[in-house]
Amino acid sequence: MSAAPSTQDVVVIGGGVTGAGVARDLALRGVSVLLLEKNDWGAGTSGSSTWMIHGGLRYLEFDWETTRLSCEDAGHIVDIARHLVHRVLFLVPVLPDDANGIERIETVMEVYDRFQPLKHAHPHVRLTADEVRRIEPGLTSDVVGGVTVEEWGVDPHRLAWANVLDAVEHGARALNHARVTSLVHDGREVIGVHYVRDGTEVEARARVVVNATGPWAPEVAALAGQDIPLRPAKGIHVVYDRRLSNFVISTEAIDGRDILLVPHGPITILGTTDDDYFGDLDDVEVLGDEVDYLLQAMARVFPAIEHLRPVRATTGIRPTLYDWRPYEDRLSRRHELFQHPQAPGLITITGGKLSMYRLMAEETADAACRRLGVEARCRTAELPLPGSERDAPTAAELALEHGLTALAAANAIRRHGCRAEAALGEARHGRIACRCEHLAEAELAHAARQEQARSLADAFRRVGLAAGPCAGAACVDRAAQVVGRELGWSASQQREAAREFLLGAWLGRSPLLERRGWAQEELAYAGRRGYGA
Ligand SMILES: Cc1cc2nc3c(=O)[nH]c(=O)nc-3n(C[C@H](O)[C@H](O)[C@H](O)COP(=O)(O)OP(=O)(O)OC[C@H]3O[C@@H](n4cnc5c(N)ncnc54)[C@H](O)[C@@H]3O)c2cc1C
Repeated sequence: MSAAPSTQDVVVIGGGVTGAGVARDLALRGVSVLLLEKNDWGAGTSGSSTWMIHGGLRYLEFDWETTRLSCEDAGHIVDIARHLVHRVLFLVPVLPDDANGIERIETVMEVYDRFQPLKHAHPHVRLTADEVRRIEPGLTSDVVGGVTVEEWGVDPHRLAWANVLDAVEHGARALNHARVTSLVHDGREVIGVHYVRDGTEVEARARVVVNATGPWAPEVAALAGQDIPLRPAKGIHVVYDRRLSNFVISTEAIDGRDILLVPHGPITILGTTDDDYFGDLDDVEVLGDEVDYLLQAMARVFPAIEHLRPVRATTGIRPTLYDWRPYEDRLSRRHELFQHPQAPGLITITGGKLSMYRLMAEETADAACRRLGVEARCRTAELPLPGSERDAPTAAELALEHGLTALAAANAIRRHGCRAEAALGEARHGRIACRCEHLAEAELAHAARQEQARSLADAFRRVGLAAGPCAGAACVDRAAQVVGRELGWSASQQREAAREFLLGAWLGRSPLLERRGWAQEELAYAGRRGYGA
């Protein structure tokens, strides 16, 4: 089946932070845009990152310019996405046999302090062993001191969505679950794309086609016979359903790489690995060895990690630019814009980091505008993203008005900022869709109605559905009814959606089962039986 073609100035392929940022930038300049994402907003590398808008302390040693650009753009992102970012304080505990002693670490921090004002962060603080143990009691008693450093945390799914939403509010069309299958050519020139959505093939014509597909960039560029030199690197995380520490704990793994334990709102992320990846980008597996590597590293400074129960593992592929020889960890995080003189009309943006997505989007939009003859300037560093336009209500006010727990109201504010009230709508019943996460039913319905959540997995990304310990066992059937009511699902479609979600959640947990996972499985299974499934 095929549908009528559409025509716009620009088609952007890829709905991670970069593509969403490009669509927003162009829409704000008055350019007509169609943004296409084959899965869901932020479901690629962006969502499987460590969820940090940081400056790249690590790159200081070998890629100073990336640290500078990253800090500078992080500052802009913090300004425009106030409700989506939160300060995170790293604690670097020093052990007697660490490769770097406290003097050396502090020297690096002193240099990094010069960059901190760019992203509105405070300078480091040096701590004694007693102070370190007092503020983070879970650390081993072997610590001899420590240093703090401040960065920013972010929910990358919401960041990608906020960019999509702003693009749409400024006239763009944005379709998730729309896979680009081929490019439309006029001679060598690229003049559009074919994409498939809901089984229907559609042609979209444009004067510029932007390839913002992260690690998939070589695959999409190849549709125009173009070569994008990437050296993709895989990273995994182990996710816990609660906060395990007061600070981000940074330590070294067996090979000297930095490993982080990152508390993010109600969850904690342990990561990450960095390994060359040669496999299928759409079928990336988490290996037991990778999980062991992370746990071994963190257990050295935070011994209790061995006894805590993770809820899932995630994995993503870094779109690192090609370089022969350096270890993966030493690869530059630079980004690059490819203008493809052999395929005019196509622009590829890849490499880089979440923490400089806005800059990458600006450079791409500048290039697209040059081709279109549009002179409007970039405004993405000054205009707030949806939700950050003004102060948000307090959780107490919102809870009172909607009959919710303060936690459910605070969660809604964390995701929607000053638009939280609108997201909860007229509902005053205070019903909770997901008890582990304190997600209001009204917010879940809003995600389906207004935020393009077309499956329960989309709702997980948009509003944290079933992100907690039961991984959906207790809430997925009711959630399928709430989402199904908005999207017109039949009873059997609701059952199928719940089944599909639980299978996906199980696949996310399965790499962890060899370690303490089976008890969790029994619990989830018993919980589901208790709900009559
Ligand atoms: C483990 C790990 C941890 C990281 N941690 C951090 C961090 O803490 N901070 C930081 O700054 N950076 C971090 N990064 C890097 C950062 O996540 C990436 O640089 C960034 O998210 C890339 O965003 P993107 O939009 O370019 O790519 P993606 O997020 O991958 O988006 C590309 C999108 O294109 C879509 N797509 C592909 N092919 C098609 C097609 N044919 N049709 C339609 N759509 C298509 C994909 O589905 C995908 O959603 C991390 C990376 C990894 C792997």
